[in-house]
Amino acid sequence: MKEAAAKAGKSEVLARYAADYPVDAARGPHDQPQSMCPAFGSLRVGLRMRRTASVLSGSACCVYGLTFTSHFYGAKRSVGYVPFSSETLVTGKLFEDIRDAVHGLADPALYDSIIVTNLCVPTASGVPLQLLPKSINGVRIVGIDVPGFGVPTHAEAKDVLAGAMLAYARGEAEAGPVAAPRERSDKPTITLLGELFPADPMVIGQLLAPLGLAAGPVVPTREWRELYAALDCAAVAAIHPFYTASVREFEGAGRKVLGSAPVGRDGTAAWLDAVGEACGIAKGAVDAAKNRFLPAIAGALAAMPIRGRVTVSGYEGSELLVARLLIESGADVPYVGTACPKTRWSEPDRAWLEAKGCRVQYRASLEQDLAAIAEYGPDLAIGTTPVVQHAKAKGLPALYFTNLISARPLMGPAGAGSLATVVNGAMANRDRMVKMRGFFEGVAEGPNAGIWQGKPVDRPEFRAKFAARRIAAAKAEEAVGV
Ligand code: SF4
Repeated sequence: MKEAAAKAGKSEVLARYAADYPVDAARGPHDQPQSMCPAFGSLRVGLRMRRTASVLSGSACCVYGLTFTSHFYGAKRSVGYVPFSSETLVTGKLFEDIRDAVHGLADPALYDSIIVTNLCVPTASGVPLQLLPKSINGVRIVGIDVPGFGVPTHAEAKDVLAGAMLAYARGEAEAGPVAAPRERSDKPTITLLGELFPADPMVIGQLLAPLGLAAGPVVPTREWRELYAALDCAAVAAIHPFYTASVREFEGAGRKVLGSAPVGRDGTAAWLDAVGEACGIAKGAVDAAKNRFLPAIAGALAAMPIRGRVTVSGYEGSELLVARLLIESGADVPYVGTACPKTRWSEPDRAWLEAKGCRVQYRASLEQDLAAIAEYGPDLAIGTTPVVQHAKAKGLPALYFTNLISARPLMGPAGAGSLATVVNGAMANRDRMVKMRGFFEGVAEGPNAGIWQGKPVDRPEFRAKFAARRIAAAKAEEAVGV
């Protein structure tokens, strides 16, 4: 599909994705991180924005899955769809259909922007969304390609859309006056890059206040005009480290971008130093902030210790931050795997974790995450659904990263003790997990798998008979030379 897309005029966009979201080409398709359809990431970003319509162009089965998942995760808006057939695809009529659909939708009373997304097949066929009008009746039109063969994870697809919108908004801001934000801080702001737990920006705001700074918008934003406010910042904190295209826009606008995040005592101290340096804040003010917050964080960590060995894996981008917090809480974390690539914004976290003896695996595959569980024998595995399933089948306590870990504050004093309750609670369940494993031992495994009316009976003699027949058939084929 990559070759087809390149031949159809998408080589430039594919080259950009390959540079922004690198994968190891030497690894086969099954050694890459397992991700849901990447377009879900960008679709979700669009669906969360006010006065924004989302339109998909792709195979009906893909659109069905993406729409289903969006509504499963609480999208309150319809997803637009421009269907195609082989004929409309090859004749270019699909592009005309998309253009007509966008013209029909572009009502400025309802929308600030319309996001049109090419899925795999239209991207491979070269449907040229870049030829759509930039704006219709004042409604901005943003066309993006999000093919599974070009964007490795759904996390990075969020950056594809966030970067495209920032590029558009930057162009508008450079061309003339733009809408002011709904709320404007009287202090210089730090834009926060990454989807954060709702309490985290508030906590970050408290950490920044003694420096004379405020927390700015979170990117991906919830409204178009927040994009201008995000660009109009003192510096950008890349809390989630995979927003490469977005960073390009911020750096293009002359903004400094700093990595890591204020997690735990060490992380908060280093982050405040980095903010102070990026914004030219006097060392005395930074030290005063550290003196105020670090003892509180250290106290919260000490009050809620975690004792035990934990492996961490996930695809959100905050895996390294969570591992730092666990280690500062007292846990032994020998392994952290993330589906995201290595970038300069997670570099401080990688260095800190490796100095503490933790192995950091970027672009981790499921097999690497499972091998880490086998190698380190943790008391708790934090991970994606299949990792959790694997751990539980082994009688090992496990927590799903996205629902149970990402849905908690991580930053500053509020984040310091927040993981301990859920982590300690899960580890204390080990005996129950072992009992459950014993209870279900052998169920739905081997000859017991499937649906049975009566108790399944193992028939090893049948297996041996059919195995012998298979071997004989294979030998016969070999002899004929098929
Ligand atoms: S074929 Fe492409 S667009 Fe469709 S579900 Fe798979 S990755 Fe997503």
